[in-house]
Amino acid sequence: MSAATTRSRTPDRLCAEAVDLARAAAEEVAAPGVVGEHVSLVSEGDRVVTHFFECKEPGYRGWRWAVTVARASRAKVVTLDESVLLPGPDALLAPEWVPWSERLRPGDLGPGDLLPTEAEDLRLEPGYSGEDVPPPNSALAGTTHDLAERVEQEDAELTDRRPADTFPNGRGDLASLAEELGMRRARVLSRYGLHTAADRWDESFGAKTPMAQAAPASCVTCGFLVPIAGSLSQAFGICANEFSPADGHVVSLSYGCGGHSEAAVMPKTPQPAPPVLDSMAADAFPLDEDLGHS
Ligand code: SF4
Repeated sequence: MSAATTRSRTPDRLCAEAVDLARAAAEEVAAPGVVGEHVSLVSEGDRVVTHFFECKEPGYRGWRWAVTVARASRAKVVTLDESVLLPGPDALLAPEWVPWSERLRPGDLGPGDLLPTEAEDLRLEPGYSGEDVPPPNSALAGTTHDLAERVEQEDAELTDRRPADTFPNGRGDLASLAEELGMRRARVLSRYGLHTAADRWDESFGAKTPMAQAAPASCVTCGFLVPIAGSLSQAFGICANEFSPADGHVVSLSYGCGGHSEAAVMPKTPQPAPPVLDSMAADAFPLDEDLGHS
């Protein structure tokens, strides 16, 4: 039989009347003056009643002191069961706890902070790890080493120089080649990581931003656009115009701003108007004023 079916809906009369007992119990566990008015009571079961008192603590708005009292069958004495502070229906509650890794927001990382990346981070996938090197006893073992050595030998013959002794083993060859190509990273961006980065950048510096909508032309034709490598180069570049709001940022090729190198033409320097007075020519004036009036 479930607990709900065994609960008595009508509170036991003696337990319901034990308000003073319940208040005394609440005041014993609460700080002085914190227990307020008797708010309500509920029947928890046969001869078990919980009394609720308002909590006057400012930080616990809507909380209630709940004191449960009980009485044994055929007994007239009501006894104390427990006292506890419980949130009411309109109680001010702390937000649900969220792990720090989910609380972190872009820009939260400060100097000296360390941000561990989970082993299962979907944004990353294994990069070159050396695991693809053939085992020493396999048919492929040493193939890379032999090939590199042969190339070096032929090259030395053609250039008439001593072949370099730089191929101690195949693993070293692959590692140095990977390092040279910039692949010597334990993990690299996964497709998911690439897509989420592209979405983020497109949101900040993409075609749908107000700046791009009002731009005279897009970044793809701008002289300040610095191309990037890799698959993202098809859609993004870096803006290098110090007067642009996107300076130093990855921008979508369809982004744009008023600083586009070709969109606005510099106005020509205004030419001065020709002089109205000719100060170079000489005017003839008579030396004698009387002669002038004769
Ligand atoms: S100056 Fe403007 S148009 Fe040119 S690359 Fe930068 S954001 Fe794009």
